This record gives sequence, C-alpha cells and structure tokens, in this order.
Amino acid sequence: MNFDDLPPLRDVIASHDLGAKKSFGQHFLLDLNLTAKIARLAGDMSQDQAIEVGPGPGGLTRAILAEGAASLLAVEMDARFLGALGEINTASGGRLTIKQADALDVDETTLLTEPGDKVILSNLPYNVGTQLLIKWLRAEPIWWRRAVLMFQREVADRVVAQPGDKAYGRLAVIAQSRCEARLALKIPARAFTPPPKVESAVVVLNPLPEAQQFKDVTALERITASAFGQRRKTLRRSLAQAAGQAGTSADILLDAAGLDAGARAEVIDIAGFQTLARAWRRAYEASRA
Ligand code: SAM
Repeated sequence: MNFDDLPPLRDVIASHDLGAKKSFGQHFLLDLNLTAKIARLAGDMSQDQAIEVGPGPGGLTRAILAEGAASLLAVEMDARFLGALGEINTASGGRLTIKQADALDVDETTLLTEPGDKVILSNLPYNVGTQLLIKWLRAEPIWWRRAVLMFQREVADRVVAQPGDKAYGRLAVIAQSRCEARLALKIPARAFTPPPKVESAVVVLNPLPEAQQFKDVTALERITASAFGQRRKTLRRSLAQAAGQAGTSADILLDAAGLDAGARAEVIDIAGFQTLARAWRRAYEASRA
C-alpha cells in the first residue's frame, strides 16, 4: 500500500465516525496540498525523527511521511483516531509510531530515541498550543532542530512580534530568546473542517546557535510576567513585585540593567529583557545567600 491508496480524509472521517470534538480543539485540515506545503517547511526530513502532536485523522501526518521523514511519532490524546492512523502506518511502511497520550505530559526525549535530528510539526490544538510551545522552549538543551507549528493567528503574531508591536509580550521575548521565529503561512478559517472562529498561521522556529540561546528561562518568565502583566505601567511600578521577590527594588534592578525606569515594557527589546533577567537572578541568589 502507498499513500495514494489511502481513502480521502473525508471518507476516513465518515467511515471511522471521527466528527470533530470541540473539547479537544479539533479543526481538521483536509486539503492535502496545504498539508504538503506545511510539511515542506520542515526542510529535508530524510534523516530526521519527526514528532507530530495531535495527528487527528492524519492529513498532516500523511504529508510528513510523504515528504520523506525517516520516522514519525504521533502523539494523540483522542483514541478514536488510532484506527485511521494505523492505516497510515501501513501505507508508510511502518515509519509511524502512534502514542495515545496528552502531549503536555510526554517526555519527548525518552520517546525519540532513534538516531537523527528531531523536528516538531503540528496543527496545534488551540487550547494547549501556547503551553506546548513554552514546554519546548524551556527544554534544556533544546532537543529539536526545527518546529513548524500552526497556531491561531493572534498567538502566531505574539510569537514573532517585535518591540513596539501591539502583540509584543512574554511569548515573543521567551521564544526569540531561544529561537529565530518567523511567520511562514497564513491560513484562512475556511481551510479547516469545521472552520474555527479565527484565522490561523504557521510559525517556523529554528533554535539559535547554542551560545546565543538565553539559558535562564525561569528568570525571563518571572521578569516578563511582571513587566507585561501590567503593561500600561512604567517598569518601575510593574517590576516592583518581581524585584521584591529577589529582595531588591525595581529601580536597582533597572539601573543594573541600564534601563530607564520610566519606560514601559513594550519598548524594551529582547536583549534588554535578558539583561534584566540576569540582574534579577543575581539579586535573587544574593538575597538567599
Ligand atoms: N492534525 C490534524 C489536522 O491538522 O487535521 C488535527 C489537528 S486538531 C487542531 C488538534 C488535534 O490535537 C486533535 O486531533 C486533538 O484530538 C489533538 N489533541 C488535543 N489536545 C491534545 C493533547 N493535549 N495532547 C495530544 N493531542 C491533543
């Protein structure tokens, strides 16, 4: 069997009774030209172990395998899809492994044990997309060579935003402190079955060279949560609580980082937040010594 012998996805959905469930954030991509376009964003996968979160009926799954991924691990929470995915495995010559699990709970590094680079592809379930991205960004070391991820357009904008943009915030600072991020494709709601309420977009993330990756993600999360949690306030005010936690004041932290205490978070660039996170960490360690 090969992929051309597989039934159309609409027939798979009908014959396996795979109607979309809202609780699992299910919006299916049935256009195989589009799924192929998304899979190609991963580049040459012939030596790679790919992982897909939420394969559902398997549109993107088929594309990843057809594009030549050496192997693919698909993590799906909803057991209804296992039969349809098994058929794709057969068509792929056994390159697909299916794991029924919540992707938030899996430790990918213990599952992806074959040789080769790791690449993540997913039409992410909207309800856990941001949490999964943060999990993959926190990983130390970053174990994947590229991530090709579909989000709601608004979330995609937040990942790639630059200082001064309306969407600039925690997610941009954390993502771009670890990766180079670009918005690669915008996808209209009508491309999905059933269509979601909003547009979607695919973001491609390439980890920065190791020496350029900012390592203390915990400190960066603490600082950006404070700074953007009250984004209309000056940093002197918005950082007061985070500074207090480190036994210091916002003014001292901002002075150590060479930043204007009267500025707002939205104008501070990524390097500025990294300097602040380092200053926060030093103060925090000193306060506990
Ligand atoms: N990949 C398919 C496609 O593009 O047509 C389906 C994408 S749909 C947006 C999200 C998929 O993720 C669904 O199949 C859903 O069951 C699955 N899912 C939702 N939450 C999940 C979780 N926490 N872990 C693993 N899979 C999950």
